[in-house]
Amino acid sequence: ATPTSIMAGSGRAAEFGILFKGGEYLEQTHHINTVVVDKTGTVTNGKPELTDVLVAENLSERIFLSFIGSAEKQSEHPLAEAIVKGIEQQGIKLREVKEFEALPGYGVKAKVNQKEILVGTRKLMDIYGIDISQVLPVMEAFEAEGKTAMVASIDGEYAGLVAVADTLKETSKKAIHRLQNMGIEVIMMTGDNERTARAIAEQVGISKVIAEVLPEGKAEEIKNLQASGKKVAMVGDGINDAPALAVADIGMAIGTGTDVAMEAADITLIRGDLNSIADAIIMSHKTMRNIK
Ligand code: ADP
Ligand code: MG
Repeated sequence: ATPTSIMAGSGRAAEFGILFKGGEYLEQTHHINTVVVDKTGTVTNGKPELTDVLVAENLSERIFLSFIGSAEKQSEHPLAEAIVKGIEQQGIKLREVKEFEALPGYGVKAKVNQKEILVGTRKLMDIYGIDISQVLPVMEAFEAEGKTAMVASIDGEYAGLVAVADTLKETSKKAIHRLQNMGIEVIMMTGDNERTARAIAEQVGISKVIAEVLPEGKAEEIKNLQASGKKVAMVGDGINDAPALAVADIGMAIGTGTDVAMEAADITLIRGDLNSIADAIIMSHKTMRNIK
């Protein structure tokens, strides 16, 4: 690899908003045959909005929302932001929160007005022994639409359900097809549930989905793919994605995402448009052809 061709390649890539952290990544990227994309903020815009609320019979909707909004106000998760925004827009006042715990990959736990509030996944409810069988069909219906549904409990009793919807980036579908046409396998990986993940994946033409991955599990999934002989690029934006970005043969961070993701990655895609993945691979091929 001549330094001149690397310099020229890096410069050209930068003009397209593709920042290689070092010349070696520009050289290695053309080996990639598998691209793993995170869902939220990578395939989607990552700006979910509260769309549905369902409350247990014995509760008022405003009281329910005031409790869960208060708990979620303490969380920095994009899902929490969506829930809080939707609740505050209805003019509902939030309450004081005594204890708060973020449960990564599961949800949140908080003490509001002496009551214990949980908001999150079915698994979270399972762990705390809360019976949610009555709402499972509704939850599944939301998920089939690609929405993320979260269940809430108050003092150990099912209290209600909220669903949020995210929008696809306009460019995601075409960008993924481009990769597939280059003979690259595209896999979607997410902490979100299987049904929601499949609904979103289907909309962009991805058939392989790894869902319900806990934050610490993402890197492990990348290692498994590598162990089966694949050259893997991971593309993500979140703190949760950082270990996977570091482990992948090439980590690509979305420039609109978290600093932690950008620090862990080898390439930053400033534009957030997934077309930059194919562009980066093509630029690497061109650079290597100039070298040989
Ligand atoms: P992602 O890979 O989409 O960033 P996470 O691992 O952060 O997913 O979260 C996985 C799941 O845990 C979410 O889909 C949601 O159901 C639940 N969850 C995470 N954080 C929260 C929260 N603050 N409130 C409610 N549910 C949450
Ligand atoms: Mg994300």
